Amino acid sequence: MIDQRVEQPCPKCGTKFALHSRPIIDVDRQPELYARFLADELNPKACGGCGLKLTLDTPSIVVRRHWIGVVLANPRPIPIELASKVVHTFLSETPDLGLPPDRPVLVTGNDEQLRRVIRSDPDDRFCTVRFDDLTRRNWAQEIVALNVIADAYLEHDLPEQAYWVYESALATFPELYFHRRFFDTLELTALAAGDRIAGGLIEPRSAPDDLELKRQALEPQRPELPEWLAHTHLCFFEDDRYFDQPVQLWNVRVELLQLDEQETLPFDRAELHLTGVTPQAILPQEPSRLERGVMRILIVLAVAAARQMLPGDPLDFAWVNNLTGAFFQLDWERMSAAEQAQLKQIYSQYTGRDLVQDFALDDSG
Ligand SMILES: [Zn+2]
Repeated sequence: MIDQRVEQPCPKCGTKFALHSRPIIDVDRQPELYARFLADELNPKACGGCGLKLTLDTPSIVVRRHWIGVVLANPRPIPIELASKVVHTFLSETPDLGLPPDRPVLVTGNDEQLRRVIRSDPDDRFCTVRFDDLTRRNWAQEIVALNVIADAYLEHDLPEQAYWVYESALATFPELYFHRRFFDTLELTALAAGDRIAGGLIEPRSAPDDLELKRQALEPQRPELPEWLAHTHLCFFEDDRYFDQPVQLWNVRVELLQLDEQETLPFDRAELHLTGVTPQAILPQEPSRLERGVMRILIVLAVAAARQMLPGDPLDFAWVNNLTGAFFQLDWERMSAAEQAQLKQIYSQYTGRDLVQDFALDDSG
């Protein structure tokens, strides 16, 4: 039985009403139920007896021909592990409808978001983040900054230098290897560099040789993830602040999408985009402020090195430096005195300069 309906007495007056508990709505076989979902009339909004307002948000599944929609209906953002368990349970309860096993699963925090995805109004694209990406810590903004620096080298036909921009971050944070967008650019620059050997290396070797060493060291550590996470997508809207979370230099790399006329998902035409909105419904995994600080120092160093080696001064470098400065100023006050001291020491060790002076930080605390 797909439509699970339960009778529930009103907690105030005892009047019974029927509600759908975790409905699985097959759009083709239950058009009426689907119509009620679209009209937000699945469950009563108030008690028929005493008028008590009811908020009966229930997780639900909408089974369409080309994809499955899952509404988590969680009042607070939950960790990705829990969200994956919930989605997996729902999917295993969904009757086999002959859908291909790799059909996309679109997960939203509430049913209104899923309705909005389905309505697919012109110019109303939604953000998608893959579940497997959400199992990794969010380094999106830092990866974009590294891309900007590496791209400047590539433009001047110096792919061997571009590779080592990524390598410097990877050497400190090996987890980056498992970020697919980081790995793709790492591999691409290594291929482009070929036999060329970058200047200034302590142990000179070609980028492909170095990447091979990284592969041998890191592949055995690759976290094993169920395959279905790669086609399960958290969906949310940029203008939607459903969960009232503070926005603080928030950056997640998303794909902007819209259902096409056949109701399929044209991922190949999605636009890559850094959004300032928190991915709703699922708690992002953030590196600590100290780790972020260390990564930003690596970025500052990479920008300085690129400025020395490349003619002119690409405008994008100013963007990277502004972001880095803004980060230091914002996060500095939130760090403990011990964290501040540690970061100052790392900065002076790498640059011989003073972090507090360079970024005009308040050093009184
Ligand atoms: Zn009542």
